Amino acid sequence: MNCTYDLVVIGSGPAGSAAALTAAKAGLSVALLDKSPFPRDKLCGGGVTGRSVRYLNDIFDIAPSDALFLQSTQVRLAFEGRAISEQHTPTPLYMTMRRDFDAALHHQASAAGVQVFAPVRIAEIDLDAVSVTLADGRRLTGAAMIGADGANSAVARALFGRPFNPSQIGFGLEIEMDRALLDDNTTEIDLGAANWGYGWVFPKHDSITLGVGGIHALNPDMKSHFRTYLARHAPKLAETGDFKCKGAFLPFGAYRKVPGRGRILLAGDAAGLVDPITGEGIAWAMKSGQFAGQAVVEALAQGGPDQAMAAYMQRVSFIHREIEAAHRIRTLIYSRPVRPFFPRAVERNPTMSRTYLRLLAGDLDYADLGYKVMFRLMRRLGGSLLYRRAA
Ligand SMILES: Cc1cc2nc3c(=O)[nH]c(=O)nc-3n(C[C@H](O)[C@H](O)[C@H](O)COP(=O)(O)OP(=O)(O)OC[C@H]3O[C@@H](n4cnc5c(N)ncnc54)[C@H](O)[C@@H]3O)c2cc1C
Repeated sequence: MNCTYDLVVIGSGPAGSAAALTAAKAGLSVALLDKSPFPRDKLCGGGVTGRSVRYLNDIFDIAPSDALFLQSTQVRLAFEGRAISEQHTPTPLYMTMRRDFDAALHHQASAAGVQVFAPVRIAEIDLDAVSVTLADGRRLTGAAMIGADGANSAVARALFGRPFNPSQIGFGLEIEMDRALLDDNTTEIDLGAANWGYGWVFPKHDSITLGVGGIHALNPDMKSHFRTYLARHAPKLAETGDFKCKGAFLPFGAYRKVPGRGRILLAGDAAGLVDPITGEGIAWAMKSGQFAGQAVVEALAQGGPDQAMAAYMQRVSFIHREIEAAHRIRTLIYSRPVRPFFPRAVERNPTMSRTYLRLLAGDLDYADLGYKVMFRLMRRLGGSLLYRRAA
């Protein structure tokens, strides 16, 4: 059986559901494939920023309900277990379980008339024919295709030979812990828990997500970082070893400068669109999915499907600029020479921790920071360095 659509979307995470919904709302026929049935789990901290909440509203018409989110307004910044700043955030951090969050997004796409194929196993992706052959023999062909199939993207592999660059990819380990281990809803970020990365404690309604993540190549001993971090928060659990942590890759800022070719586009993690400082990927997944869907709509209405990539580049370059700006600041936060001085700088300059929290909450775009603020941050960091040397 061969079915033909205007658009075939592979992967129904935040990026794929946004792409499929956007295209279907504009009147395109859309097939949306996923290897899992929904609801399904996805390893993730489930930290949803103010930026994500705005996109959730704009793209999916979903408001942040208590059923879907726990709101955390207290954030502790720590370094190797020592609290360096504790603050109330004016904009809450929204904490969700991806099982519920992604199912809600997937539902919106399906309700808009998208034809869902899930669970399916893909046997072959033919980029020239813009088609996908399923293990059961069915073939789905599109005028255009969007690969939104995550960090290990099969579409990216078909396009570029590999889904990501192993020297740049990030990796995270996580567990869900008993809710009773935390008596409040404080979110914690420990900037010393991993190299070029951090540890997190994210409170949820029914559990606590504890994890450690960073650049994979710089953390060959991520499991030991994880055990150390767990021992600080749940010593008994760490001692008994009675837990099973899970790991997954995340692009962590290693984005694809050209995310696709002609009528084949990549969105979300498949295009490497994750914030290089905070590891936030849900917002850019939704936004790039929307951009990719819009680009296909525009291309089909105007020059033809081969114009999709050019239309997508025009839009997605806004996200690339944000990631580039974050990359420049990342060196100030995570690099080895600065690392010992960063905690002191944060402790001595509340503006630094406030700025970090505003970025974390999605209140502030990196582009808004500008060179003036970056210069000020560098000066403060430099001040701490000198202070430390003099002491
Ligand atoms: C440990 C960890 C913690 C994180 N914490 C946060 C956080 O707190 N906040 C945040 O904003 N981001 C976080 N991220 C990043 C975030 O999870 C991703 O950026 C986000 O999920 C990207 O969405 P996506 O739609 O591109 O891909 P995904 O959410 O990965 O969705 C991809 C979909 O494609 C499907 N798929 C994959 N391969 C195939 C195939 N061959 N055929 C069919 N379907 C396929 C999958 O089943 C899945 O449904 C974290 C990531 C990790 C690893």
